Amino acid sequence: MSKTIAINAGSSSLKWQLYEMPAETVIAKGLIERIGLPESVSSVSFDGDKHVTVKDIHNHTEAVAILMNDLKSLAIIDHFSEITGTGHRVVAGGELFKSSVLITDEIAKQIENLAELAPLHNPANAAGIHAFRALLPNATHVAVFDTAFHTTMPPVAYRYPVPNDYYDKYAVRKYGAHGTSHMYVSQKAAEYLGKAPEELKLITAHIGNGVSLTAIDGGKSVDTSMGFTPLAGVMMGTRTGDLDASIIPYIMVKTGITDVNELIDIFNKKSGLAGISGSSSDMRDILKGREEGDEKATLAFDLFINRIQKYIGQYLAVLNGADAVVFTAGIGENSGPVRKAIVDGLSWFGLDIDESKNIVGADGIISTAAAKVKVLVIPTDEELVIARDVEKLSQ
Ligand code: AMP
Repeated sequence: MSKTIAINAGSSSLKWQLYEMPAETVIAKGLIERIGLPESVSSVSFDGDKHVTVKDIHNHTEAVAILMNDLKSLAIIDHFSEITGTGHRVVAGGELFKSSVLITDEIAKQIENLAELAPLHNPANAAGIHAFRALLPNATHVAVFDTAFHTTMPPVAYRYPVPNDYYDKYAVRKYGAHGTSHMYVSQKAAEYLGKAPEELKLITAHIGNGVSLTAIDGGKSVDTSMGFTPLAGVMMGTRTGDLDASIIPYIMVKTGITDVNELIDIFNKKSGLAGISGSSSDMRDILKGREEGDEKATLAFDLFINRIQKYIGQYLAVLNGADAVVFTAGIGENSGPVRKAIVDGLSWFGLDIDESKNIVGADGIISTAAAKVKVLVIPTDEELVIARDVEKLSQ
């Protein structure tokens, strides 16, 4: 038995899960938030208890040291050396990384160099990697890329119709994201459907605060809704999704915004459900507002559903039909009303939900027996995929 830690480092947060491997048992998990801000919060869930500490944590290196010391002080581990593997979620792997890799000095440098494609995420991912490599010099360190699953997309899906040079010289193309989640739920869906992934055409819908849909043919991603960055695709909690690029210069002139990055920030952080509702990016608030007759919340909900339906329609065309649509992530796993609203508008395509199965805690097939295209709910588990990849690459 060995202990492996799965790390998901964001720009100001670090989410972790400690596993006993190969048993795949979760020993403890936690989240450090507000890194770099006053009063950072570190929480550790272990043995049915949640331990929370509040203190200033200035950067990811400090966060990793605090997390490792918490593991010791809570007697989750006796020595750092018990952790023999670390797995790191890396958002952008560009065209370079088609699968998970052992991290060397060179790989760590390449991950840093890919920051241009994910300026908020890759530097944080790299900081987490450096901190763990320094603290656990004898452990196996593995990078798991959000983009890797999508590297099977054909050029017809990943190229944009812009001058060739932009691709040839600057690698402007669709990379997608959430790949680990799409891969995991598609493989689980195949188990539920009693078929090999190679025999199936699936549309996976990762609907959380970030939202992306993927068309999967024979186990391979052939198209996905996020693009060059995660800003593209369907409307999300705070992101616009697809937008006419001409809006950018127009809004800049109208509002006096002179730095285009300021506008991109608004498209990433103040748009989507938050932008339309004017109140919240959280689907639970939107559903409540809609129930109470709030017109803006209702419009936000309607736009959100409409954009997802349109992408499912696109992918039914891309795949020339599908065996199943799979819902996952915070909203996809937990909101029956959202799933129902999406599927109800797609009955012509042969999607049909069984209301008695579209319930809280649903896991598996929720469509009627007669439905031509099955509908499934599958809780995603990106951390488990990361821990498994560490295990695989440690052999
Ligand atoms: P994630 O990014 O996967 O953590 O998902 C976050 C989103 O899931 C937020 O918009 C939450 O409001 C939403 N969510 C979580 N639980 C529920 C629920 N029971 N009903 C509706 N939305 C939910």
